[in-house]
Amino acid sequence: MDKQIHPAFPGRLNPPCGDIPPDWDIIVIGGGVTGAGILREAVRLGFRTILLEQADFAWGTSSRSSKLVHGGLRYLREGRIFLTRASVEERQRLLLEAPGLVEPLGFLLPLYQGRNPGKTILSTGLTLYDLMGSGSRHRFLEKSEFIARMPHLRREGLNGGFSFYDAQVDDARLVLRLVNEAVDGGGWAVSYAPVRTLLRDGRNRVSGIAFENLCEEATGELHAKAVINATGCWAEHLHPAPESKRHLRPLRGSHLVLPAWALPAAQAVTFMHPDDGRPIFVIPWEGTVLVGTTDLDHRGSLDDEPAMTPEEADYLMEGLSDCFPALSLGLDQALCSFAGLRPVVSEGDRSPSEENRDHTIRRDGSLITITGGKLTTFRRMAWDTLEEVLKIIPGKGSIDRELPVFEPAEMIVEREGISDRAIRRLAGRYGRETIAMLREAAPEDLLPVPGTGTYWIEILRGAREGVRHLDDLLLRRVRIGLLRADGVIELLDEIEKRCGPLLDWSNQRWHEERIRYRGILERSYGLPGRPPLPEAVREGVLKKGLRLVQRAFGSG
Ligand SMILES: Cc1cc2nc3c(=O)[nH]c(=O)nc-3n(C[C@H](O)[C@H](O)[C@H](O)COP(=O)(O)OP(=O)(O)OC[C@H]3O[C@@H](n4cnc5c(N)ncnc54)[C@H](O)[C@@H]3O)c2cc1C
Repeated sequence: MDKQIHPAFPGRLNPPCGDIPPDWDIIVIGGGVTGAGILREAVRLGFRTILLEQADFAWGTSSRSSKLVHGGLRYLREGRIFLTRASVEERQRLLLEAPGLVEPLGFLLPLYQGRNPGKTILSTGLTLYDLMGSGSRHRFLEKSEFIARMPHLRREGLNGGFSFYDAQVDDARLVLRLVNEAVDGGGWAVSYAPVRTLLRDGRNRVSGIAFENLCEEATGELHAKAVINATGCWAEHLHPAPESKRHLRPLRGSHLVLPAWALPAAQAVTFMHPDDGRPIFVIPWEGTVLVGTTDLDHRGSLDDEPAMTPEEADYLMEGLSDCFPALSLGLDQALCSFAGLRPVVSEGDRSPSEENRDHTIRRDGSLITITGGKLTTFRRMAWDTLEEVLKIIPGKGSIDRELPVFEPAEMIVEREGISDRAIRRLAGRYGRETIAMLREAAPEDLLPVPGTGTYWIEILRGAREGVRHLDDLLLRRVRIGLLRADGVIELLDEIEKRCGPLLDWSNQRWHEERIRYRGILERSYGLPGRPPLPEAVREGVLKKGLRLVQRAFGSG
């Protein structure tokens, strides 16, 4: 245990280029959940490991998922029993090992006349799902009970439905906790450090990497016994696929974020889209509601952050209107959108939704490339990758698969002004650090940021977690940029006042960061057709006011 806290080789987060030693056991390229999970497990095995990420940690797909830790009923329907089983087992472990970060989530699945696979098939599937997890938890609910739980659902043709359980996570915080604990255990992690090329030795074996440090405008070369390419959709930019018929196929999935008042959902709901029968999720998250997702080929450049297209917005709104007609939902009510790219390894002529979501590991000498998989199974992906590393660098013993993913945090903390629930949330996100955070916090830090369930203490802590840009802080260390229609633009003065002493940015730098942040919000998190912020916010409030007036006095 002590080894984790006082490692012989101390870890560093975002060290200056000149401080980085040139020789390593393992270099991990990519700071999504796959890379961060590998870093965490590699450090535990005693490997001197460094991770390099081209942008911010979790900047790629790992901050843009549906945030479910789940087996995936869909995969079961497709006969992917092993993937479902592994995912359900991971879900159960993560619920035990990461409370406050991974939490149970109740689901409702309505049954409509002539639309679903049918009650018997679903019941069999859910029983199997239960058996893979922690015993029988699903239930069939008659129509009246189902409507009591989700009153705004379309009633016509409804034959009741099922309730079952899965789990939910803050995806970016999962990555950050993995990175933080790996660094505590002796790992090194550097953001805004794109790897430009792989270096090869005289025998043409990969022996290291050449990278750039975008913050210092410097370049460097590092060497290692094993190099791991965990760059998700970007993997073939670094190393081409060995089989001509198996290629990475980036599939875009987009979500809308709605305020809870527009689409009240105490539990998640999954229903079939009327157009193509694909499952759509409505998921309560951080006081908002996520609606997703789409699944289509991404034709844009991987250099740009993906964004939702008008067609995707229409598709999701169409699904919502079909399922919740009484709510008269409109796109103008949404807070924002986000889009992510699934790093799927394609096996031929299949529709996007039919592609296999399992992970794939390829080894070329000392280079290991891992792609695909799910957020839920990141730990298994790390183990499988490290089994390959152990073939390259033997003598480190074997992987202990019983170790909990995080250092257990004993949360016997009493602090006035903050609820037990909030302490659990903090412990899930910051582990052992929580005690010191709470001890040092001023009373005003324990208040939530207006219009969100995020506490100011989280923003202050986030500012100390390797933040290089304002968007790192507001979109990934905390998620408040996604939780209000103004993207917290109207809180930036307050954020600057509180975080200024921690970030050490000049006035000019803050000004530039605000412009950059606003640009990112508008390009990649906006709503198709919405005018620039914060005019959009005013317009949204105006429209909402108008609707209320119309409802009260009639539209005539
Ligand atoms: C819409 C959507 C919803 C999803 N929902 C779920 C869900 O609910 N549950 C679930 O379990 N899974 C879900 N997934 C799948 C899951 O999100 C992904 O499988 C997972 O996040 C992929 O992680 P990764 O680390 O492999 O890739 P990424 O998170 O994309 O990380 C790769 C990283 O590599 C970096 N990189 C690229 N090139 C370089 C370079 N040259 N040098 C340095 N760094 C580089 C990138 O910047 C990026 O940060 C979803 C996926 C999508 C798209």
